[in-house]
Amino acid sequence: MPATTLARRAFLGGAVAALAAARAFAQSPAPAGPVDPKLLDDLVAANRILADQGVVDGYGHVSVRHPADPQRYLMSRSIAPELVTAADVMEYDLDSTAVEPRGRTSYLERFIHGEIYRARPDVRAVVHNHSPSVIPFGVSQVPLKPLYHMSAFLGGGVPVFDIKAAAGQPTDMLVRTPALGRRAGADARRASRRAHARTRRGGGRRLAAARGLPQRLHGAERAAAGAGHGPGRARHLSGRGGGAPGRRLGGRHHPRPWELWKKKALAK
Ligand SMILES: [Zn+2]
Repeated sequence: MPATTLARRAFLGGAVAALAAARAFAQSPAPAGPVDPKLLDDLVAANRILADQGVVDGYGHVSVRHPADPQRYLMSRSIAPELVTAADVMEYDLDSTAVEPRGRTSYLERFIHGEIYRARPDVRAVVHNHSPSVIPFGVSQVPLKPLYHMSAFLGGGVPVFDIKAAAGQPTDMLVRTPALGRRAGADARRASRRAHARTRRGGGRRLAAARGLPQRLHGAERAAAGAGHGPGRARHLSGRGGGAPGRRLGGRHHPRPWELWKKKALAK
């Protein structure tokens, strides 16, 4: 093949690649602005803590609403939470379209996050996980209720999201479309998904992570208390917010364990 033909093909190939890149850039939303490194550090710590404490494993993800634009959120590229660094954090709009993806892949179920932020302007952080200790409460008639003060925030009840009913047909149980994300995110503050996983929404990135832990531990304790043998066997905290413990604790109880969990998780 003549050298001139090769050169022309190389040139055309380069032009096509540049055009594709320009189109991709044009379709990608513009960044909302710089993010405080402390926020990124907390988001990284949240990923590591939730992995270290067994709330997430190789799957699961945590996000935080963008401080400069409520129509955006921040979450890692598709990577195991335990491996997340600040460099892995990407920005998304509420359609869960990545801003400047630069070839990085996204979590399939990112629509959970975008649609929860859209449905609930008060929510500042979201954790999605598949903790085995709470999944039984999404597939049985046994309700998830608080047993002790650290899980008092569950006192308002935990709706169960049935993805089969939401989709109108059997699915692969992944919230992989905006429509399923809207169904999963719009109807409740707390939701568990049938046979699949838990999604925690919280008032802040530290609080969301902090609440993921007692929720997981609570599930195990509730099972140990014989909840599976019939309603009424375990004595639960009652009332929205778990009554007095929930009102007293609010979101103020997490700074102390946060520092401990962070130290342990980041030491690895
Ligand atoms: Zn999932």
